[in-house]
Amino acid sequence: MGSKRKKRVLITGGAGFIGSHLCDRFLGHGDEVICLDNFITGNLSNIKPFAKNKNFRLIRHDISKPILIPGRLDAVLHFASPASPPDYLKHPIQTLKVGSLGTHNALGIAKAKKARFLMASTSEVYGDPLVSPQHEGYWGNVNPVGPRGVYDEAKRFSEAIALAYYREHAVDVKIIRIFNTYGERMRPEDGRVIPNFISQALAGKPLTIYGDGRQTRSYCYVDDLVNGIEKMLASNLHFPVNLGNPNEMSVLHLAKLIIELTGSKSKIVHEALPVDDPKRRCPDITLAKTKLHWKPAMELRKGLLRTIAYFKSVS
Ligand code: UDP
Repeated sequence: MGSKRKKRVLITGGAGFIGSHLCDRFLGHGDEVICLDNFITGNLSNIKPFAKNKNFRLIRHDISKPILIPGRLDAVLHFASPASPPDYLKHPIQTLKVGSLGTHNALGIAKAKKARFLMASTSEVYGDPLVSPQHEGYWGNVNPVGPRGVYDEAKRFSEAIALAYYREHAVDVKIIRIFNTYGERMRPEDGRVIPNFISQALAGKPLTIYGDGRQTRSYCYVDDLVNGIEKMLASNLHFPVNLGNPNEMSVLHLAKLIIELTGSKSKIVHEALPVDDPKRRCPDITLAKTKLHWKPAMELRKGLLRTIAYFKSVS
């Protein structure tokens, strides 16, 4: 570590999929991590590897309720929220509360500690986009009163309040809009497309394509995302930056790829498309490329093979 001062960071949602990878990264640098999670969708097994690390501390708490964190903090990384469509449909009020009250509390902590604040926003702020690829200047096409509105609007509110804290209180806020991300530590029952397809393929069950499968997504490997998050945290940017992989493909293509990579004999079945399911999603990452010098490096096949190996290890 040399003469570099050890950082002290608070990670809300630290036991979640992305949160636990962030814990891993900061602990790897020798920093001190306070992981805050209420385990609605977080998973104790994600943070088990850190239990014996003296730089790691877990606080079981719902960030929607105020909390005093003792000691100094250099950064608050706000990653608490259900993030899978089935999860936020199951917990609509918790999702709204963590995006509003939770973000307010996390910003209050950052303000009190004079810490940097980085929040996980989402490509969902673009709704079912009428512009593709989506750039940060696009205001989106969101249905506020549909079932997905609880997540989309909570994140849009989060962005608004974060920027209000920047303007009014000069809190050093950073906002990233995360596009579909995958990798180790996703829950097999998470409900998102990659965990579903891999679990189904490994079990020899049919892969459930919602709708005709022509809707598109692009998938970023979690280590690439964490690299982008570190760069954003170190930057002097405040306005939202997209982080995702621009390799756009149909859901049908993804299903076939996962069948091939798992060597599964599973068939494909079609089920009803969820309400307001975006037809296209692909990030324009020009801003991240030019301002953060970041772009994703992991090839999809390789990242999927790693994720498949992880799912085999936990099944
Ligand atoms: N999807 C699917 N089968 C599944 C799960 C999801 O066809 O078992 C589709 C879903 O309708 C959407 C895409 O895959 O079009 C990505 O869904 P996911 O839940 O991963 O996240 P989203 O990008 O919609 O937030």
